[in-house]
Amino acid sequence: MPFKKKPVAPKKVVVPEKEATPLTTAAPVTDESEGGNSKNPELLRGFRDIMPEEQGKWNLVRDAVRRLADAYSFDRIDLPILERADLFLRTLGKGTDVVEKEMYVFTDPSNRSVALRPEATASAARAYINHGMLDRPQPVKLWYMGPMFRHDRPQAGRYRQFYQVGFESFGVDEPIVDAQLIVIGMQIFKDLGLDVKVQINSIGTSECRKAYLAELVAYFRQHRAKLSEDDKRRLQKNPLRILDSKEEATKELLEGAPQILDWLDEKSKEHFMKVLEFVEEMEIPYQLNPYLVRGLDYYSHTVFEFVLADDTGDSSQAALGGGGRYDGLVEILGGRPTPACGFALGLERIVKALEAKGINPPERRQPVVFFAQLGDAARRVGLKLFEEFRQSGIPVAEAFGKNALKAQLEAANKLGVPITLILGQKEVLDGTIIVRDMESGAQEIVDVKKAVSIVQRKLVPVALDKPAQI
Ligand code: AMP
Repeated sequence: MPFKKKPVAPKKVVVPEKEATPLTTAAPVTDESEGGNSKNPELLRGFRDIMPEEQGKWNLVRDAVRRLADAYSFDRIDLPILERADLFLRTLGKGTDVVEKEMYVFTDPSNRSVALRPEATASAARAYINHGMLDRPQPVKLWYMGPMFRHDRPQAGRYRQFYQVGFESFGVDEPIVDAQLIVIGMQIFKDLGLDVKVQINSIGTSECRKAYLAELVAYFRQHRAKLSEDDKRRLQKNPLRILDSKEEATKELLEGAPQILDWLDEKSKEHFMKVLEFVEEMEIPYQLNPYLVRGLDYYSHTVFEFVLADDTGDSSQAALGGGGRYDGLVEILGGRPTPACGFALGLERIVKALEAKGINPPERRQPVVFFAQLGDAARRVGLKLFEEFRQSGIPVAEAFGKNALKAQLEAANKLGVPITLILGQKEVLDGTIIVRDMESGAQEIVDVKKAVSIVQRKLVPVALDKPAQI
């Protein structure tokens, strides 16, 4: 087999699993730390606010994704956050953590079982069927961005509401589709200045997986005594997930376990080799990871994950994103058999990686003019004037909420603007405005209609695009 790269070792961290929560009952609240004595309103555990000061980095990511989606002709789709629970139960697979333990499922006022989406690929496939996209020229290439919900154990890099962007390509089974999706993901990271590698594996078709799983189960049955209760359960319910096990004993056993790549049929092998060839052709750093299976049942053939290049594989929260081929998904949902492939990236983890690397967005332009007003008539003129300056590309600051001139001049001083405009009752009546040079303190009264052009002239020596200190 021409799979040249050395497989990576399975991940080392032991992450204790929670008890399974039956789907039909509300999740237990016993593991929650909320409900203390604090008088402040409390946020749900695992949920967070994305604060104004973080938005710059988030925008860097959102903008890079939008740019690349456009460049690769992916069309944006917005999908509902709430879906029928059944959509996920049918597609993600019984015995998967997401379905068994992590879904926010509840009954809506119409007595329907609904779920907050734990991921959006199933929704994208549903939309593909609902809108007859099978009859459009294929591939249909969609991208989305939005919050996902999983009632998992919150920890660093793992939230109960988190944001994903996803790219999905429906209708073409060529390996180049898988490879191009990997290229797009890598390009997003490159644009952001992050050094990322891709881990890749093939889990073949459900037929070749069946034969492999029989072998895998037989192997682990021989070593059953060494398995944790969780892994015993996995072995019974969803044996492929045992490859993903975080238990040390299981990881040791995995070294001697049969590997899925050896069980691929000729077509699956050929598909995978072509994907790898394209990926190599694009000089994408990749590692074969025979233990990579991804959490969900709908995957087939290629599966991959994006991890930071310097990542040692020690953390279960290391992946910045992942995806794969899901040729059976549309059919499971009642559509025509439709090959498809896609990936999703976790925005919180990407933003965290930007933070760790000290990558910051360009700073906002600093105001160069401050508008000070005295009274409501002046405020009215000020509102209009603010728009005129904004349209001329001159960033203006104001303190419409302050009344005293002294306080407003102090604010102007703090911002370090070279010019302050002062508008009092008298100036409003006269149709004038005072232009104050903040360095010399010199003031002149000018026609308010000429304020923009006069300030523009005065500002020539001052760089208008001086970055802000925010
Ligand atoms: P998945 O398809 O579950 O592998 O999710 C794709 C990506 O979404 C992961 O690689 C993470 O970056 C991100 N992600 C998944 N679950 C969470 C979570 N609970 N909190 C934060 N990010 C997550």
